[in-house]
Amino acid sequence: MAPVALAPSPMTPTVDFDRDGVQHGFLRLPYSRDDSAWGSVMIPVTVVRNGSGPTALLTGANHGDEYEGAVALFDLARTLTADRVAGRVIIVPAMNYPAFQAGTRTSPIDKGNLNRSFPGRPDGTVTQKIADYFTRELLPLADLVMDIHSGGRTLDFVPFAAAHILPDKDQEARCFAAVAAFAAPFSMRMLEIDAVGMYDTAAEEQGKVFVTTELGGGGTARAETIAIAKRGVRNVLRHAGILKDGASGDGRPAEASRWLDMPSADCFRFAEDSGLIEPCVDLGQPVRKGDLLARIHPIGRTGLAPAEYRAALDGILAARHFPGLVKAGDCIAVVGTVES
Ligand code: CA
Repeated sequence: MAPVALAPSPMTPTVDFDRDGVQHGFLRLPYSRDDSAWGSVMIPVTVVRNGSGPTALLTGANHGDEYEGAVALFDLARTLTADRVAGRVIIVPAMNYPAFQAGTRTSPIDKGNLNRSFPGRPDGTVTQKIADYFTRELLPLADLVMDIHSGGRTLDFVPFAAAHILPDKDQEARCFAAVAAFAAPFSMRMLEIDAVGMYDTAAEEQGKVFVTTELGGGGTARAETIAIAKRGVRNVLRHAGILKDGASGDGRPAEASRWLDMPSADCFRFAEDSGLIEPCVDLGQPVRKGDLLARIHPIGRTGLAPAEYRAALDGILAARHFPGLVKAGDCIAVVGTVES
């Protein structure tokens, strides 16, 4: 069967991606609804361009309740000047803007999880239309793609930049070089439990240098993790030859990043019980195979023993469930192994 040609994206940018200088505008997506018959979703975008050169596409709030990326990118969009750029920087601080406005992981419009909606559809839901626009219009413009995540309301991470093991080893090496340039306290070779539909996958399949992060979580951001995000973005832009700043106060920290690996699904611990979680290890602490990571206490009555969850390999606690109550199926812990 011949492939069916896709309709054009309904998204209209109010900026000209080919114009030199700084432009602040919107990606405008028609969204007809009860309170606005001819209304739109208005996703803020900034383009900073100075002549020919590589393009970086920077995004935050792909999940709407993750804040380090949004803070760092609203800040960068406000402060970056064209004379400091060689090439082009496209900044979308809040990629799933409806979710960001609601403070939720998924969109309140259609419950769409943007990072499970790629490559998207021009004739789909609002979330699918956003994904489609990035897949077919913005990703093709980019050489370097950085999507800044954190844990959101339900997870919390040690701060790391990450890339994936890829079939194209040249591309993989360029991705990990950018991760190293980010210079977060940790750098991760990341294993995804659910890669289908991810923005990461769409960018990687187009051959882009792709860097992601997990910089904290709990549905908030901290001064330390925001500083890591701001510094990391500038470090990667400098590494790509796009940011012309010399080594200034916002440069990479002196201490080396520690490399972590996720060699198998044994890294993840999923709850098989519901109840009250008792963390037994804090983020960043070393663990040995067999160590107790958490207990889940039954809450229906007193006198019952808690369920115990143990590490399946040696490493450090890289992620943990954030809220105090847990449901069966929740990811409660991720152990990253430390590269020697
Ligand atoms: Ca996320």
